Amino acid sequence: MDTLVSLCKRRGFIFQSSEIYGGTGSCWDYGPLGVELKQSIKRIWWRDYVQKRSDMVGLDASIIMHPTVWKASGHVDNFTDPMVDCLECRRRFRADKVDEMPWTHYCAATKGNKFTIPAGEPCTHCGERRALCPECGKGSLTAPRQFNLMFKTFMGPVEEDAALTYLRPETAQGIFVNFENVAQSMRRKLPFGIAQIGKAFRNEITPGNFIFRTREFEQMEIEFFVNPRETVEGKPADEYWHERWIADSLAWFRRYGLREENLRLREHEKDELAHYAKRTADVEYQFPIGWSELMGIANRTDFDLKQHAQYSGKALTYFDEERKEHVVPYVIEPSAGVDRALLAFLADAYQEEEVRGEKRVVLGFHPELAPIKVAVLPLLKKRDDIVRTAHAIRDTLSTHWSVVYDDTAAIGRLYRRQDEVGTPYCVTVDVQTVGDSDKGESADGKVTIRDRDSMEQARVPIAALPTVFLDLLGGGSWSAVASRYPTAKA
Ligand code: ATP
Repeated sequence: MDTLVSLCKRRGFIFQSSEIYGGTGSCWDYGPLGVELKQSIKRIWWRDYVQKRSDMVGLDASIIMHPTVWKASGHVDNFTDPMVDCLECRRRFRADKVDEMPWTHYCAATKGNKFTIPAGEPCTHCGERRALCPECGKGSLTAPRQFNLMFKTFMGPVEEDAALTYLRPETAQGIFVNFENVAQSMRRKLPFGIAQIGKAFRNEITPGNFIFRTREFEQMEIEFFVNPRETVEGKPADEYWHERWIADSLAWFRRYGLREENLRLREHEKDELAHYAKRTADVEYQFPIGWSELMGIANRTDFDLKQHAQYSGKALTYFDEERKEHVVPYVIEPSAGVDRALLAFLADAYQEEEVRGEKRVVLGFHPELAPIKVAVLPLLKKRDDIVRTAHAIRDTLSTHWSVVYDDTAAIGRLYRRQDEVGTPYCVTVDVQTVGDSDKGESADGKVTIRDRDSMEQARVPIAALPTVFLDLLGGGSWSAVASRYPTAKA
């Protein structure tokens, strides 16, 4: 994790928020490359789940909603985590996560020596398990108290109870309260889904692990409404669609590069299942901190629509033409964190290898995720014609993709820099491209394309670049493209 954090800072992906003031705990700012990566994730998610599907539509609801929304949803009463305090150092912890932290121990069997013991393990000297504060190792922890995770705020100039409202802790409720608006205005028939990407806020007791758990984050959520009275392939529609969404979600993360061995599904046990959920499965990823939740896929039944119907007095039902009856749809909710997805893609893409005796760091991003798709590099920055040609290529390609021009180092170093930020292709403009009139050599109008993963190079006419990159960045393989053009020396 430390390697990733430092790479992210050094190469402009992610910075500590308000760093010049000493930083704000658990808040992070996405830098120039981070914002491109994040937007790529959101763009392909939206394209795959909204644009390409005829049974999905999008929504962008307000972050601040009517306070009764959170009463109806159960968040005011139940969106809590158990919190414990250390009586000595006053630090606070989430009671259910204390044993997932390494703990400090003053061991009586070794004259009170101080040890840091891995999470969940006993002391190898005295055999004791953690009983005191994991940080200071001295204070007792209080009994757990419930702490509500919603951020409170006030609407208008007067800070009084009547003006109290909340920053949304999830995007989902914006979808439920708009169910009727969307179904009516878009003339939707079940099953159909509503997708939303947006910020959510949770006053987490113990945020941390870089962007894994923060107090301000982004979610990509879908509420997929189904008719519980229907059956599909012999199964109740909600169960059928739940299975479909679990399989689709896993396939989506695999398609964009997460390795099979780093992904797994975890079913919620009966005792951890939310009271309204019929079944919930988490997609877990093997993060640098261990296996943890990447997204959740829940069958929330008709709980949310019924709650909002009860609190608002509006009937949130669907008229089933075939059965001539009103029904409250069931809902399947695939819910993913943008920041956690970004961390997973980053961790999975990170590779170190040795090339000709030198360490090469590569972010092997799927081309659709890569923050920079193509870097255009002049071999000699002193030659005006080379530089001009390189700029012209950048300008042409940048109408389609994010493309950079860089001449701030020698070519070998420029390649390494692009490898390190995951740029799948570099284009190099050299003397042959523009010709050398002093030596009587004419221009060949061709450039060298270098493939990040194989480090192979091919010589391609400038005029063919848009077609070649349309192919390569649209999923075409390097070997197929390279076979059409002569290889160039690496
Ligand atoms: P956790 O158990 O990790 O607290 P959760 O089960 O409360 O997560 P959900 O309410 O299911 O999370 O939210 C859906 C998704 O939103 C999560 O799978 C995760 O990707 C993301 N998410 C939730 N809380 C945070 C957070 N504090 N920081 C970053 N992402 C988050």
